Amino acid sequence: MNRLIVAIAATLAVPAAAFSQNVILVTADGVRWREVFSGAEAALLGPNEQDARREFWREDPIERRRALMPFLWSHAGRRGRIWGNQDLGSAARVTNGLNFSYPGYQEILGGFPDPRIDSNGKVPNPNVSVLEWLNSRPGFKGRVAAFGNWDVLPFILNTDRSRLPVWFPSVDSDVQTHEAVMKYLREKKPRVLYVLYGETDNRGHEGRYGEYLRAIKRVDDFLREIWSAVQSMPEYRGRTALVVTTDHGRGEGPRWTDHYKDVPGSENMWIATMGRGAGWGGEVCDEDATQAQVASTVAALAGEDYRADQPKAAQALDLDYAPVYDARAARGGTDAARRTVERAAAVKLPW
Ligand SMILES: [Zn+2]
Repeated sequence: MNRLIVAIAATLAVPAAAFSQNVILVTADGVRWREVFSGAEAALLGPNEQDARREFWREDPIERRRALMPFLWSHAGRRGRIWGNQDLGSAARVTNGLNFSYPGYQEILGGFPDPRIDSNGKVPNPNVSVLEWLNSRPGFKGRVAAFGNWDVLPFILNTDRSRLPVWFPSVDSDVQTHEAVMKYLREKKPRVLYVLYGETDNRGHEGRYGEYLRAIKRVDDFLREIWSAVQSMPEYRGRTALVVTTDHGRGEGPRWTDHYKDVPGSENMWIATMGRGAGWGGEVCDEDATQAQVASTVAALAGEDYRADQPKAAQALDLDYAPVYDARAARGGTDAARRTVERAAAVKLPW
């Protein structure tokens, strides 16, 4: 028994110097916290979407979210951390006040909201992103790359100045983007990789809920494929962290198709971390997060202190925190939250 306790303690007491060698950041554009934590919403599925209903609807919200994002919930949901389940007292929010893409990507990648970024226009970002900054650090030069299903991404990352390699497809296709990602990952083995999947938002604006759900499911499939490639390469296995988040949420009920500053709820988002150094315990209870914390978190996972050079950036998320599925959350929450806490507590951790 003692030996077991020592082994567990050694696993949990991660020294400050233990960071990932590599970090992969993935964003799925405009995915609501509702779908991430509760899966498909029955009321939003139209009468012509019976196939999607069969695919994604389950009575139980835990089974429902697993049907939509099986990889996220079997990995970050158990062996990582996920902020943003407001039913458990964890809100993750956009702080730029605009709740659309370019301001959101500035907040994610720059680490702070910038009021000068107030449109999705192809305007070179005056700010240095955490990706550009990492690319200037010893050991990272030429080892940082970005892929995105959006032709504004080169401007967000100011490729004229940053010289970062940024790839985007000629048509709206997450699949094409993902194929380019997988090729680059296997051949170039970057230390820091950023991927923007965009079909989730595009299908959302079209008002096709079933297709929006399918786009989310595809992102989950992409994450699984990235993670299994990571496990297959010695440069990555056991030394890579994955961060997954979104640039904004969407409205509630019939306004689910939309987002922007005057759409209530579209400031709500979510952040998941998993892999080396990325914490454990799954769903976070009673702890908030902001979109602006992602940049410093990515840097910290790469062993770098972004705020030393960019004091405007929000602090990194607390990845050392060992969560307790506490009775307080179980008592105080809604029925759904209580079920989630009970289910989460029943999950067997890998050690
Ligand atoms: Zn949008």
